[in-house]
Amino acid sequence: MAEILDLAASVALVRAGDRLLVGGSGGGHAVPEAWLTALAERFRATGRPRDLSLMSVVAIGDWKTAGFGRLAQTGLVRRVVSAGFNNCPAIGAMAAADEIEAYTLPQGVLSQLCRDMAAGRPGLVTRTGLHTFVDPRLGGGKQSARTTEDLVELVTLDPTIKLDIRYAQTNNFMGKVVYPEARAFLQRPAADALLAAHKELALHGYGLLIHDGYRPWTITKLFWDMAAGTPMQEFVADPKSGSKHNRGCAVDLTLYDLANGQAVQMPGDYDEPTKRSYPDYRGGKPEERGKRDLLRAVMERHGFTVEPNEWWHFNYKDWPSYPILDISFQEASKR
Ligand SMILES: [Zn+2]
Repeated sequence: MAEILDLAASVALVRAGDRLLVGGSGGGHAVPEAWLTALAERFRATGRPRDLSLMSVVAIGDWKTAGFGRLAQTGLVRRVVSAGFNNCPAIGAMAAADEIEAYTLPQGVLSQLCRDMAAGRPGLVTRTGLHTFVDPRLGGGKQSARTTEDLVELVTLDPTIKLDIRYAQTNNFMGKVVYPEARAFLQRPAADALLAAHKELALHGYGLLIHDGYRPWTITKLFWDMAAGTPMQEFVADPKSGSKHNRGCAVDLTLYDLANGQAVQMPGDYDEPTKRSYPDYRGGKPEERGKRDLLRAVMERHGFTVEPNEWWHFNYKDWPSYPILDISFQEASKR
């Protein structure tokens, strides 16, 4: 049922960290100025909401203070994505002063992206902007130094983080090699949190052994198709919504013993399609459960949550802020 809200009630729905797609066009055409003004006033009066991500297809404003310029307040905006900031110079100034994350991307691509979002079609692929400053290999349209949404290769953080990338081998649930290289990446903040967990676990005599990190969307689709009608179906993500692995914010891992370099015995095996994979499974040996529970406790202290049916899978808390990606490991390492 449609519901009509007044301005204050509508603005009150916005929460910290929300992402807002604001319509309208440069020069003030169809821009919800009264709504933006009310949001700015709410922030001035209450300090809330903080850390918004703003997106507009066209730079919106009047080259003075209107449009996104109304929201140019420290703490209110974390990130802006738009075709430009010329119509809202105060936002441009915040980007230039490195106070916000900022991206400028082609107007036509952002338009197409809105159509695809509305139609529920994830994964817009375009050639527009290749070999220009919006090409991911040439900066990806980043407009401030703090715009560091990047995939980090985990072994570069600490060489004692070990890899056992099963999808680059044949000992996985599909019995075939699906990754061309045994490499693991996470978004920078998730990677930093993982490193902190690894260091804490060293105090207990363990290190992290990584099975998987960032996963290209095409591979999630492949898993979905191959798992259909098998017990693995419960354990693979629907490519329609994508996986947190596709966002570089999920990691599959276990512990290895620092004394001998060997993976520890857990209550169940990685990717095992049984109840033993549940992080609260009460069977198995007490010492196996103890290691599983230690891994979980340390990861939770550093901003991760365990998947309800996979003791080895951890999601980083800020995963909704990151897009679903479908770039290769080769491309990720060049970013
Ligand atoms: Zn996983």
